[in-house]
Amino acid sequence: MSKLHASESKTQEYLDRYMEGVAKRNPGQPEFVQSVYEVASSIFPYIADKPKYHKLQILERMAEPERVISFRVPWTDDAGRIRTNRGWRIQFNSAIGPYKGGLRFHPSVNESVLKFLGFEQTFKNSLTGLPMGGGKGGANFNPKGKSDLEIMRFCQSFMTELYRHIGPDTDVPAGDIGVGGREIGFMFGQYKRIRNEFVGVLTGKGLEFGGSKMRTEATGYGAIFFMRNMLAQHKDTIEGKTVLISGSGNVATHAAEKCLHLGAKPLTMSDSGGFIHCKDGFTQEQIDWIKDLKNVRRGRISEAADHFENISFHEGRPWSVAGDCAVPSATQNEINAEEAAMLIKNGVKVVAEAANMPCEQAAVEAFLEADVLFGPAKAVNAGGVGVSGLEMSQNSARIAWDNEQLKTLLENMMKEIHDSCVKFGDTGGKNTNYLQGANIAGFVKVADAMIAYGHV
Ligand code: NDP
Repeated sequence: MSKLHASESKTQEYLDRYMEGVAKRNPGQPEFVQSVYEVASSIFPYIADKPKYHKLQILERMAEPERVISFRVPWTDDAGRIRTNRGWRIQFNSAIGPYKGGLRFHPSVNESVLKFLGFEQTFKNSLTGLPMGGGKGGANFNPKGKSDLEIMRFCQSFMTELYRHIGPDTDVPAGDIGVGGREIGFMFGQYKRIRNEFVGVLTGKGLEFGGSKMRTEATGYGAIFFMRNMLAQHKDTIEGKTVLISGSGNVATHAAEKCLHLGAKPLTMSDSGGFIHCKDGFTQEQIDWIKDLKNVRRGRISEAADHFENISFHEGRPWSVAGDCAVPSATQNEINAEEAAMLIKNGVKVVAEAANMPCEQAAVEAFLEADVLFGPAKAVNAGGVGVSGLEMSQNSARIAWDNEQLKTLLENMMKEIHDSCVKFGDTGGKNTNYLQGANIAGFVKVADAMIAYGHV
């Protein structure tokens, strides 16, 4: 065996042993184990010749959340019945700043999903260059079909416990799936009432009470800025490209809008009931109609096909449609190996993960193998938390920046994140390995801060 192969197989052996330990310590948590594997498989080869990280057990410590808080959330529905949900806050890593990450309200929420999201968030926040640690939280509560008053009572009950664990210098939650401006408003109101403090303890707030301009648009816009940078790095351009988008929430609709601004054609959007397809590409008017459908009328995506002649509705996910770019923007594990093969067969050139971990491990491997440009979530969707970080700065300084300033800051931030990925993702192959680049760039800063603190 050559020296190189011997060292590669030793690294694989360490990785396997490490993952065995992670799986054993986290039984029944497949999403979390999957996310640790994805990061560790890039980091192990990188630290193979850097013994300080091994000696100081940095990866072992990183895969253990600093704190997991789980609590009861009782609330009363409109019929007067008492309902009970479970809430969590995972305070994953505070090495480089206060815990920061969204709250998700969805029936699929459990400890495994939130730990995977908190772990990922640690690296993503590090990539933004801002001083933010990683956290995530939420509840297994289904907001669908609930009245505004039920949502308000739920949010108030959730915050009645959460308020003791968060604070502007400790932990600053934001929105995520099922938690938008309405929910953040209810929770901020309850925090303010209990603590008698008007502070930047949540981000994603309304503009009237400390929110930042561009926050709503930031994740979707940032994702498309990142994709444009990926194409430019590889001597291509976003102009004229057809783009498959999944989801129809905050991230998806703003990704579609930015595609339009930059001369690309968004062809699809979806929700958990199926997907819509517009072969001409959605217009701004159609995107605005979908935003209103989802945010105000709270309807189903299929209704768009009843309303617009050139839009059709189909069951399943949009990955069977041919397109140059895929931007999954709904939820985790929404592209499997079979769907990846279909996208590759149809000639997809770039996959940019706007949702968190939307591609299964086998799908990621297939894209890398086929030389499809692959942008991992922690880099592609970091614009959202990046502008949240800017919201925190504005709150601390009691100032408000305008749209143009924030757009420029977002665009520059996405360029810097892109360039860090290129710096650590050059493997000598045809394409930049953005997955490796993002993992290593995010890791180094957090790991070095942890080392500076000693054995904590
Ligand atoms: P929203 O709640 O606004 O929208 C979520 C969308 O995904 C909806 O269209 C929803 O459809 C669909 N969806 C949810 N679960 C499923 C499922 N199991 N199968 C199919 N479709 C599903 O969320 P966001 O747009 O805010 O978030 C989307 C993704 O982006 C998430 O992974 C989130 O973690 C990530 N993200 C979001 C950020 C933000 O700033 N908002 C920041 C960084 C990452 P339906 O209405 O049927 O439920």
